[in-house]
Amino acid sequence: MVAHVISGKDIAQKMREEMAQEVEQLKQRHIVPHLTVVILGEDPASHSYVKGKKKACTQTGISSDVIELPDTTSEQALLDIIDQLNHDDAVHGILVQLPLPKHIDEQHIIEAISPEKDVDGFHPVSVGRMITGQDTFLPCTPHGIIELIKSQQIDIKGKHAVVIGRSNIVGKPVGQLLLNEHATVTYCHSKTENLQQYTLKADILIAAVGKANVIKAEHVKPGAVVIDVGVNRLDDGTLTGDVDFDEVKEIASYITPVPKGVGPMTITMLLKNTIKAAKGLGKGD
Ligand code: NAP
Repeated sequence: MVAHVISGKDIAQKMREEMAQEVEQLKQRHIVPHLTVVILGEDPASHSYVKGKKKACTQTGISSDVIELPDTTSEQALLDIIDQLNHDDAVHGILVQLPLPKHIDEQHIIEAISPEKDVDGFHPVSVGRMITGQDTFLPCTPHGIIELIKSQQIDIKGKHAVVIGRSNIVGKPVGQLLLNEHATVTYCHSKTENLQQYTLKADILIAAVGKANVIKAEHVKPGAVVIDVGVNRLDDGTLTGDVDFDEVKEIASYITPVPKGVGPMTITMLLKNTIKAAKGLGKGD
C-alpha cells in the first residue's frame, strides 16, 4: 500500500477562501474581525510566525495589528497592555506570541487574556470548555489536525488513536479532541516503555515529538493514518517531521508531509477562531 498524501496546504487554502467569503458577509453587517498580536523581543523565528499570521489575516480580509515590545518589558507592563486589549471592543482576538522572555510567567499572561478573546485556545477556561465539550476556541494545531483527518472522510469514531507527545499545546489537546470524536485514545511520551507496542496498535497515529524521523515503518500498523506534527530543522537547513516519510508512506493509508501538512492548518484555525470571536462565542462557527 502506498499512502495518500494529505496536502494541508491545499485544504488550508480552500478553507481560507471560504472564510474570506464569511468575513465579507460580516463586513456587510459592519463587523470587521480584528486580531491583535503581541510580540516581545527580536527572535527571528517568532517574528517569522507573526509575519505569517498577519499575511494570512490580510489575505482573508481580517484586520490585524502587531504590538512589538522590547524583551525587557516587565510582566506588569504586558499585563496592562492585555487589560487594555481586553476592554477594546474593536479587538476580537488577542494572541501573545510564545515563548516569552524568561522573566515573564507565561501562565500569568495566558490567564490574563479574556476567554472571550482567547483565539489561541490556551486559557484554562477554554481548555476546560474543550474537555467538557462546550463551545469554545479550540487550540489551533490540534483543531487543524482534526480538520485534516475529517477532510479525507476518515471515520474517527471507534478508532484507536495513539498520540506521541503530551505537551499542553499539541499532544494533550489533540488526544482530547480525538476523544471528543469518539476515538479510543492512548498517550505516549518520553517515559513510555516500549513505544512500539502502542504505536503498532494505532489506527490513527499522531506524532508530536519534535525529533527528526524517530517514527519508522516498524512503528506503524499497515493501513494506519499517520499525522506528523513535528517540525525539525536538519543541519543542512531542510525541514523534516518526526516521521520517516519515505519509509512510512509505503505502509500507511494516509500521511501528512512536512512541510505543507499540519503547519498551514495551524494559522487557518487561528483565522477561524478570530472570525468566531468577532461573531461572539456561543453563536456558532
Ligand atoms: P514539546 O513540548 O517538546 O513536547 C514533545 C513531547 O514529545 C513531550 O511530551 C515528550 O515527552 C515527548 N517525547 C520526546 N521524546 C520522545 C520519545 N523519544 N518518545 C516518545 N515521546 C517523546 O513539543 P510540542 O510543542 O508538543 O511540539 C512537538 C513538535 O510539533 C515540535 O517539532 C514542534 O515544532 C511541532 N509543532 C508544530 C506545529 C505546527 O503548526 N506544525 C505547532 C506546534 C508544534 P515528555 O512529556 O515526557 O517530555
